[in-house]
Amino acid sequence: MRISGRTILVTGGAGLIGSHLADALVALGCRVKVLDSLESYTHPAGISEWIPKEVEFLSGNILDREALEIALRDVDLVFHQAAFTGFHPEAAPYLEMNAIGTARIFDVVAEKRFPVQKIVLASSLSVYGEGKYKCEYPAMRSLERLKRHEWEPICTVCAQSLQWQPTDEESSKAPFTPYAVSKYAAEMLALSMGKRLGIPTVALRYAVTYGPRQSVFNPYSTVITTFATLLVNGRSPVLYEDGRQRRDWTFVEDIVQANLLVMKDERSDYRSFNVGTGEATTVREVAELLANAIGCSVEPIARGEFRSGDIRNLVLDISGLRSLGFEPRVSLEAGIRRFVGWFRTLGKVEQHYSILEEHMRRTGELLS
Ligand SMILES: [Zn+2]
Repeated sequence: MRISGRTILVTGGAGLIGSHLADALVALGCRVKVLDSLESYTHPAGISEWIPKEVEFLSGNILDREALEIALRDVDLVFHQAAFTGFHPEAAPYLEMNAIGTARIFDVVAEKRFPVQKIVLASSLSVYGEGKYKCEYPAMRSLERLKRHEWEPICTVCAQSLQWQPTDEESSKAPFTPYAVSKYAAEMLALSMGKRLGIPTVALRYAVTYGPRQSVFNPYSTVITTFATLLVNGRSPVLYEDGRQRRDWTFVEDIVQANLLVMKDERSDYRSFNVGTGEATTVREVAELLANAIGCSVEPIARGEFRSGDIRNLVLDISGLRSLGFEPRVSLEAGIRRFVGWFRTLGKVEQHYSILEEHMRRTGELLS
């Protein structure tokens, strides 16, 4: 599918990934429309200052049929990035925005017979739950074991610590938070509705994404913003468990690269792909890289606190996307340096800090 010169809708286009995608599309000579509801937990100042001036910005919610009709009119291609990712004690808001909102995009395209030619949507690594290990897929870790600080999942057959493996797309799906369930539902809905309507659709299961423009007000975006806020205020990042949980942190430009690649390549049609670096990094290593980049000698603290429902290790196998020619370009070290360079330009870090402290006080959660 050709991208340059086309009319393209980016939902959630004021967010971290959406806004970088909008930039890339403008650079490719596209006419770009952005639909974003500018939720206050990620955009407290309202309209985002990084929406390129060439973009047609539409303020609205994907649950709103009329807003969608205006946004989808005359559009060739859709990058669906809008999602509810904040913290909410109830489950329904995640299902509403992420699952029903995704279904509504397809409903409006079908009802209005809009000639949309391809849809790429954002899914998440969370669909896998704990992911793949040798021997077997682990159950959620028990509260009793976590209280004894036994962090690694245990094999029910040989009673040893299970060894993690990269999680490929065929791995068992075990979404266990409302957010994860809503993203998996969105993905399944989109792929099946796309097939029914004959609109090639691709789902991208993103690893932990970070980069400039990350919301520093959303404590659930990634530990990177929280740790950076603490470090520049001379405070130690506090790590859950022993800080040796493994994840795959991926710089936003590599996520954008993957979006453009699958949009172009018809071998991706009606499939789901992992997007990440394929590299395992512990939370502790991330805290240390950040402290280095900030130039701060504060050591992270790990006192064995934990959250039930957290996963231990999840690193994505990206060979599926590699077979289409994808290769991550930004190392974690370089990405964190670029993130810190941007973070320093924000100023007002004391304000972010007080918002995070308030969150910590209210929820009793650590900031990671
Ligand atoms: Zn075993």
